[in-house]
Amino acid sequence: MDERRTDAGCATGAPGTGADGHVQGGRPSLIGEDAEGLARRLAELGVAARERGMRARQLFRWIYARGARSFEIMSDLPKDLRDALAERFELSRPQVLACAQSRDGTRKWLLGYEDGARVELVYIPEPGRGTLCLSSQVGCPLGCRFCRTATMGLWRNLRAGEILGQILFAKDALDDWPADRPGRQVTNLVLMGMGEPLLNYEAVRQALRVALARDGLGLSRRRITVSTAGVVPRIAELGRDLGVRLAVSLHAADDATRDRLVPINRKWNIAALLEACRNYPAGRRITFEYVLLHGVNDRPEDARRLVRLLADLPAKVNLIPFNPWPGSEYRPSSAERVRRFRRLLEAGGLEAPVREPRGRDILAACGQLASAPPRTRAA
Ligand code: SF4
Repeated sequence: MDERRTDAGCATGAPGTGADGHVQGGRPSLIGEDAEGLARRLAELGVAARERGMRARQLFRWIYARGARSFEIMSDLPKDLRDALAERFELSRPQVLACAQSRDGTRKWLLGYEDGARVELVYIPEPGRGTLCLSSQVGCPLGCRFCRTATMGLWRNLRAGEILGQILFAKDALDDWPADRPGRQVTNLVLMGMGEPLLNYEAVRQALRVALARDGLGLSRRRITVSTAGVVPRIAELGRDLGVRLAVSLHAADDATRDRLVPINRKWNIAALLEACRNYPAGRRITFEYVLLHGVNDRPEDARRLVRLLADLPAKVNLIPFNPWPGSEYRPSSAERVRRFRRLLEAGGLEAPVREPRGRDILAACGQLASAPPRTRAA
C-alpha cells in the first residue's frame, strides 16, 4: 500500500453540499442550476425580467467556467445583487471526508453529504489528458456480482448539483480554473463510478448539459462517456439528448453467464442490449467493458462468442483485469489467460486493449468503489 493523504485535495473541501435546489446549511445551493434555473432564482430575488437573462448568463459563467465559490468575487454583478444572492443562496462543494493518492498519480476522494450519504470520486491523470470518474448514485441497485459498490445496495440517487459538485470540487483540488485554461487537467469525464447513470437519467442529463455548455465547463461530447450495465430503454435517449460516448458493461458473451454476473440481463438480455447499441447514433464507436474472471468468462469459447456478437458493431473491447476486494468471490484471470483472450479478440478483428489497473493500491480501480459497509436495502 502506498496510500498518502493529499493535503491539497483534503484542504479544499468545505462543509456543505452543492445540489440543485437542495437546502444546505440553511440556504439552497445554486450548483446544478442551468441558465434557465438561475433566471428563475433571480426572479425570486426581484431582478427585472429584462435583466434576468443577462444576469443568469453572467452567474452561469462565474459558477461553471470560473469556479466561483462566493458571490462577492462576481465583479460584473451589481453589489446589491451580490449581497442578495449571498443572503439567499450558496455555492458550496461536497465535504471531503478522506483522500488518497496512488503511486501512479490516481487520486481518490471520499465525499460526504449532509444526510450521511457518501460517494467516491476518482481522478486519473495520463499524458495529455485527465479523466474524472464520477458517481451518479450513492451505492447501486444492480447487484453485479464482481462489483464492490454492489455490496452497498442503493442508498439514493444523486441530484444534478451533487454530480456537478464532484467536478467543481475536483477542479478546485487540482487548481484547474478557469474551465477553458490551456493545459487544463480535467479533460474527460466518465460516469463509471458508483451507480448506474441511466437509472438516474434526469439528473445525469442536467449535469452533463452544464458540463457540455460552451460558457460552462466547456467539455467536448467526445470526451464524455456514460457507462451502462444495460438499461436498454434509456440508451436511445442518451444518444438523442446528449450524443456523448457510450460504454457498456458487458462482462459475458452468453445470457446464462451474464444473468449471473450482471443481473439486469434478466430484464434486458444481450440481444436487446446489442440492438440498442446498433441504433445508437452512427459514427460513434461503443466501448464494451469486460472484466476478466478466472474460469468464469475468460475461456477461448467466450472470446470467440464475443467476436461473433460484436461483428456488426463499431466496437472496442476494454479488457479489465479483475481487481479483487475484501470478500469478493472471484479471482483475476492469469496473465497468460488475459493474453490468450486478447489474442482471440484481435484475431477476430476487435480492438481489445487491456486496461492498465489504476489506483489499485488505494482501492480506486474499477469495481472497487464502496464507501459504506455492505447493505442491501434499496432506497
Ligand atoms: S458494476 Fe456498475 S452497474 Fe454493476 S453494481 Fe457495480 S456500480 Fe452498479
